[in-house]
Amino acid sequence: MTLTADAVLQDSLNQEVYTKHMSKKNKLRIIPLGGLGEVGKNMMAYEFGGQIIVVDAGIMFPENDMLGIDYIIPDFEYLRKRANRVLGIIITHGHEDHIGAIHHLIGEISAPIYATPLTRGLIEGKLLRNNSQHKAQIKTVQAGEVTTLGPFKIEYFHVSHSIPDAVGLGITTAAGLVVHMSDFKFDHTPVDGWPTDFAKLAEFSTRGVDLLLSDSTNAERPGWTPSESVIGPAFDKVFGEAKGRVIVATFASLISRVQQVADAAAKHGRKMAFAGPSMVDNVKIARRMKYLDIPEEVIVPLEQALNMQDHKVVLMCTGSQGEPSSIVGRLSAGTNRQFGLKDGDTVVLSSHPIPGNEESISKTINRLLRRGAIVVHDGIAPIHVSGHAAQEEQKLLINLVRPKHFMPIHGELRQLKRHADLAKQVGVPEENIVVVENGQVVELVGNKIMLGERIPGDYVFVDGESIGDIDHDVMRERSQLARNGIMLIDISLDKLTGRLLHEPEVLTRGFVSPEDAENLLPDVRKRVMDVINGGGLDNEKDIINAVKSYLYQETKRRPMVFVTLSKA
Ligand SMILES: [Zn+2]
Ligand SMILES: [Zn+2]
Repeated sequence: MTLTADAVLQDSLNQEVYTKHMSKKNKLRIIPLGGLGEVGKNMMAYEFGGQIIVVDAGIMFPENDMLGIDYIIPDFEYLRKRANRVLGIIITHGHEDHIGAIHHLIGEISAPIYATPLTRGLIEGKLLRNNSQHKAQIKTVQAGEVTTLGPFKIEYFHVSHSIPDAVGLGITTAAGLVVHMSDFKFDHTPVDGWPTDFAKLAEFSTRGVDLLLSDSTNAERPGWTPSESVIGPAFDKVFGEAKGRVIVATFASLISRVQQVADAAAKHGRKMAFAGPSMVDNVKIARRMKYLDIPEEVIVPLEQALNMQDHKVVLMCTGSQGEPSSIVGRLSAGTNRQFGLKDGDTVVLSSHPIPGNEESISKTINRLLRRGAIVVHDGIAPIHVSGHAAQEEQKLLINLVRPKHFMPIHGELRQLKRHADLAKQVGVPEENIVVVENGQVVELVGNKIMLGERIPGDYVFVDGESIGDIDHDVMRERSQLARNGIMLIDISLDKLTGRLLHEPEVLTRGFVSPEDAENLLPDVRKRVMDVINGGGLDNEKDIINAVKSYLYQETKRRPMVFVTLSKA
């Protein structure tokens, strides 16, 4: 068949229309809901043609000034409005900053969860503890497998990290191939003997990677992150020198560390016990699934361990970040119910301070020392290595994958920016790198990357049963109360004359010492009476302002001042 010139023209016009149409449609939206501009609560949504997949749903632990807050979850607003268009929740590994918010998320959207066996086990344990197992539909996937969800083809590949069974993702849509590198390191001798899948990364590279997203946690650390295997000798030394009990604190989900402590315990003839529900649960799940290899005779119940000779015991628990409610936190305060510290106990804090926790960890260490414990932390012995890639590994990843575009994820802005610099150093053109924080949508379209709109990406505070009812104003009030205390002023007036029935009663809490209060209160009463006698009565604000400015002038502090006014 021959085509007339007209037909050729028509065909090429069609093609042009089609291409235009497709390029407009072939838009992948990358929506950072958490973990960009902060450490923790990692969560990313990918949207193509209105359909969405979610990668990870983590929590973040509160900072010291976030009083009474248990933890923080991402803002699900964007997903909530499109709940029926979410096709799946893909989880990269079982750490809290990736799975911690799942039980909140599945209350809002009903998409199935995809996870590797260990990650699935840890998620199920978490759902059971939160009574939400009935809401979740979980599908097991293995590294090397592929899942197709609507327009998304998702390839799982193994990465080494500080927990077994972690994966990275290759996400293919008509907009191109995106590699989502969640937490990883290039550990050649990992505890579980399963290094990162370099071959898969190389294969992606041959196919052509349009965008690489990669973990920035350690972007400020030069060199290579040491292998997990360097910890072995350090634990060996601690166990060899300890005269009494060894108490090792770490994250409940740092499964690789549990294996290393178990190995040291077996070698030194100590029995091992676990304290705390999350630690006990996770170890049970990981052992049952054969991700932990601990001989039966090494493990004893906690009650039994507490009655054994001190030098025969190692206890594992949570609290390496100085969290007051954790076991180590309670041990340091002398408020742990099941057992207390003994002279000669060696407490090993096997983790690195999460930014913002340094102060509370330091206080915990001092309290532990005061109670007679020997404290070993990563500042004095190599009993912890990071699970995250350092600069040389990050550069190696970019060189392996050779992405057209690069977007750093997981980290505060300083780490994201540093990671962007590294990408530039190894040849990604500056205009192809995009550094954004939570809530800034990025679009991959027609082989170009551009910024989309801003969506809500704020903190949602979880405080006991209340989720999201606490906003920044409440937090500000709490911290003001905690820092400066309060003053209550009770005023009784004669209903008819409007005169004071008696001197105002003034009460303070958490503001100044009783002696200082004695000195201040007469003047406070006088100021209150001045305002009332000056006719400022209609306005309680006048009283509050007068008192506040007087207190600030005298003490340089700003307590919260409340006035109660009654007429009799
Ligand atoms: Zn992790
Ligand atoms: Zn993480």
